[in-house]
Amino acid sequence: MATSTVTKTAAKGGSFLLESAAPQDVFTPADLTDDQKLIGQTAEEFVVKEVFPVVKDLEAKKPGLLPSLVKKAAELGLMSGGTPEQYGGAGLDKVATTILTEKISIYGGFASTHGAHAGIGTLPIVYFGTEEQKKKYLPKLASGEMIGAYCLSEPQAGSDAQNLLTRADLNPEGTHYILNGQKMWISNGGFADLFIVFAKVGGEKLSAFIVEKTFAGCKPGNEEHKMGLHGSSTTPVFLENCKVPKENLLHEIGRGHIVAFNVLNSGRFTLGASCVGGSKYVLMTAAKYAKERKAFGKQIGEFGLIREKLAEMAIQIFAVESMIYRSAGNMEASMHAAGASGDSVQNTMKVLEEYAIESSIAKVYGSEMLDFAVDEGVQIFGGYGFHEDYPVCRAYRDSRVNRIFEGTNEINRMLIIQMLMKRAMGGQIALIPAAMKLADEILAGPSFEEVPEGVLSEETRAVANAKKMFLQAAGGALQKFREKLADEQELIAALANMVMEIYAMDSSLLRAQKAAATKGEAAASVLIDAARVFIADAAERVEHEAKRAIAAVHEGDMLTIQMAVLKRFGKRTAVDTIALRRRVAAAVQSQDRYPFEGR
Ligand SMILES: Cc1cc2nc3c(=O)[nH]c(=O)nc-3n(C[C@H](O)[C@H](O)[C@H](O)COP(=O)(O)OP(=O)(O)OC[C@H]3O[C@@H](n4cnc5c(N)ncnc54)[C@H](O)[C@@H]3O)c2cc1C
Repeated sequence: MATSTVTKTAAKGGSFLLESAAPQDVFTPADLTDDQKLIGQTAEEFVVKEVFPVVKDLEAKKPGLLPSLVKKAAELGLMSGGTPEQYGGAGLDKVATTILTEKISIYGGFASTHGAHAGIGTLPIVYFGTEEQKKKYLPKLASGEMIGAYCLSEPQAGSDAQNLLTRADLNPEGTHYILNGQKMWISNGGFADLFIVFAKVGGEKLSAFIVEKTFAGCKPGNEEHKMGLHGSSTTPVFLENCKVPKENLLHEIGRGHIVAFNVLNSGRFTLGASCVGGSKYVLMTAAKYAKERKAFGKQIGEFGLIREKLAEMAIQIFAVESMIYRSAGNMEASMHAAGASGDSVQNTMKVLEEYAIESSIAKVYGSEMLDFAVDEGVQIFGGYGFHEDYPVCRAYRDSRVNRIFEGTNEINRMLIIQMLMKRAMGGQIALIPAAMKLADEILAGPSFEEVPEGVLSEETRAVANAKKMFLQAAGGALQKFREKLADEQELIAALANMVMEIYAMDSSLLRAQKAAATKGEAAASVLIDAARVFIADAAERVEHEAKRAIAAVHEGDMLTIQMAVLKRFGKRTAVDTIALRRRVAAAVQSQDRYPFEGR
């Protein structure tokens, strides 16, 4: 199906911290093919035409309505992006599934339904199923004949998923596993036909099973009363002597964590894309309202403080979108490079692992950006933003859970650094030599600094210096705490915040430079403005986090030296971000929506 204009060479996962990619090698929304755009358009139109008109009924949980919408979406190929065509799926590439997810996510309730079915409910079989399992289940999931769900969490085990208590015991005849336990918070639980259930064989070996709702002893519970996502289903699932045929074991006994974590990796990236879709919709709604609402004889959109909000929403969306599509391009290029060689499932696993850092970044940064956007959206609507009749109110409630599921943002912050250190220790990225080189440079004192030239040269310098700040802070932290670094959670979070900001800065910079090179500086001027504002503010945030981290590591004279070095890396020319934001706001207001490619 849709093939992307893939990035020429896939950058290694996490390498953005050390290397400067060439702008032309980075995938951006401007590189989407017509086919890919059409997929996005179809997804968005589906929600606008089929879902929005029945939102009230959906949120009131009208029986049968949500599953019927899933089936309709499935008929359009929207519920099987990641399922190969040979099993009845749409067989989309990574970039196409990303845009599909983004555009179908303009309504939170359907976004989570889609993610639970097409993502975590289906992909375990795509990645780990036997040929028989794939043939039996994937066509039904792709067509919507069966709806999928993913059952990992339990009442006492969410973040600490390996602490789950559900057990699976082979029956004396050796024909069935008997599952007993309770699953909690299961998206699509109320109407799913197929559950990917994690249980411990013999109470010890974590394993995954394909469980059909019709299997005796599989009982979904009542709907949870949630803060938001009322247009989705979330229930417990009870397993009481549930008889699961032996052949429904997914992957291998004792390897359930491999299934769970690889699928979550993929889900995290997808969730980031979903947040981009949700935030663009809120920005559009808020921009339109700012034109309609009057105060003090003016449209509220004429006030600087409202314009500033619209601009900042667009700028933050731009940064997250730049990261997401850059990562999608890299993943696609990696898959492409692996090509027909080797086992395609193994290749997919390798790619998911390679970009696990970027996937966690997408999840954390995307969900926090969406929370910012919905919060400002409510503010622009004033009192009406607090009223249930206005969609922005619903978007505010729906957004909050994104920081909790698919691994909380605390867990993902820790994972970012954990995975980075693993890659550094394994030699996949040369983080340690780079930190040592920087430490030598610091000891040698200030040296002549090459000044970058061309479009966004100041910003190029700021991004390079942010990377040095990270190396300085991370190098010191590693040297002091070594294997005990894992116990220093606050320090790890500061480092993770720096990593995320750097990826966002770097991706925004490269996208703006690529746009300037392809269509000219004048035509790309607002995109360049957005990149300049984002980088100026993010550089401040990186410096702030570096200060926190360095102060937690050094003391006395060494702390004074380190702070002096940090100050050198933090030297920047001041940017008039007020004027730049006004220009971005004008672009938003001239179109009443997100103004860049990808809209
Ligand atoms: C609407 C909704 C839908 C969901 N859908 C699904 C689904 O389809 N399938 C599924 O399996 N699960 C699902 N979940 C469950 C979700 O994945 C968990 O809620 C999530 O993983 C957090 O687990 P918990 O709620 O037990 O919180 P806890 O793990 O108890 O965490 C509580 C707090 O402690 C923090 N914390 C925990 N451990 C640490 C640590 N080591 N260091 C620092 N801080 C820590 C957390 O970050 C959090 O802030 C869903 C949840 C919701 C709310």
